[in-house]
Amino acid sequence: MADEDGSKTHPKKQEIVRLERTDRPAPEISLHGLPEFLPGWVWLTGAGPGDPGLLTLHAVNALQQADCVVYDALVSEDILSLTRTEAELVYSGKRGGKPSLRQEDISRQLVSLAQEKKRVLRLKGGDPFVFGRGGEEAQVLVQAQIPFRLIPGISAGVGGLGYAGIPVTHREVNHAVTFVTGHLAGKDAPELLDWGAIAKATPVIVIYMAMSRLEAIADLLMEAGRDRGEKIAIVTQATMPEQRVVTGTLGSAAALAAKHNLQPPSIIVIGDVVDLHGELSWFGTAFEG
Ligand code: SAH
Repeated sequence: MADEDGSKTHPKKQEIVRLERTDRPAPEISLHGLPEFLPGWVWLTGAGPGDPGLLTLHAVNALQQADCVVYDALVSEDILSLTRTEAELVYSGKRGGKPSLRQEDISRQLVSLAQEKKRVLRLKGGDPFVFGRGGEEAQVLVQAQIPFRLIPGISAGVGGLGYAGIPVTHREVNHAVTFVTGHLAGKDAPELLDWGAIAKATPVIVIYMAMSRLEAIADLLMEAGRDRGEKIAIVTQATMPEQRVVTGTLGSAAALAAKHNLQPPSIIVIGDVVDLHGELSWFGTAFEG
C-alpha cells in the first residue's frame, strides 16, 4: 500500500531532496493587482486537492514569484511546473506510518530560507490549515519574526468530494458535517478521539487519512450506533484524471477498499449525501463529452 499522504510517486529519501527541473517555461498568466512576494517572506499556500485549475490566483501569483518552493507529497508535478525555471524545488513530504522528515526540521528550514532573504513558498495539498500542520509552521514563523501570508486552498474534504458529485451538505439530508482525521483511530491510538461522540454528532462525517484504519473506524462508528447499511463513499485521487469513486456500506467499508485495491490519498464520506453521487457525478463524463 502506498503511504497515507500519497507520497508513492515522490522521492522517498528521508532527507530533504531537490527535484530535477525541466527547461519548460512557466506559462504567463496576468496577475495584476495581486501582492508582490517580497524577499524574506514565507507564503503558506494551499495547492488544492490536485487539479491545477483549483489553485487560487494568489497561489499562482506565489508560484510565479517564488525563489524557493518547499512542497509536500500531495502537490502534483503539474502544479510545480507553474514555478519559475530558476526556482529551487524542495521536497518535504511526510510519509504516514513511516519515519518521515520531522515537522521541526521543515519549520526550521522555512525559517533559514527566509533568513537568506529568499521568497519562500510553502506549498501544501488542499488547505494548509486543514489537517496540514500549517498552523504549526505559522507559529514557528511568528516566533522567529519571519513575515508570512496564508493562502487558503480548496480542501479535499470539500472540493474533492465535489468532484465526486457529493455535496458535503444538502438541505434535505444534513445541516452539519464533521471533518475528522482517521489516523488517530485503532490499536495504537485508542482514546485520542471520542469516536462515539463523533458518530452521534452529525449525519455526515468526512474522514481524512483513514485508509490504513478504515476497519477500526467503521467498527468504532458502528459500536456507537451508526447503521451497518449506512452509505459510504471512498474517493481516491480526487480531482485528478485518475480519480476513482467507490460506494458501499459502512459494514463493508474495509472489504470494499481491499476489493478495489484503493490506495491513499483517499477521502471518505459517510452519510446519505453519498446517494447524490449517482445523480450528480459529473467528473469524467464531462471529459468524455
Ligand atoms: N490539507 C489537506 C489535507 C492533508 S491530510 C486538505 O485540506 O485537503 C492528507 C489527506 O487528505 C489524505 O490522506 C487524504 O485523506 C486527503 N486528500 C488530500 N488530497 C486528496 C485527493 N486528491 N484525493 C483524495 N483525498 C485527498
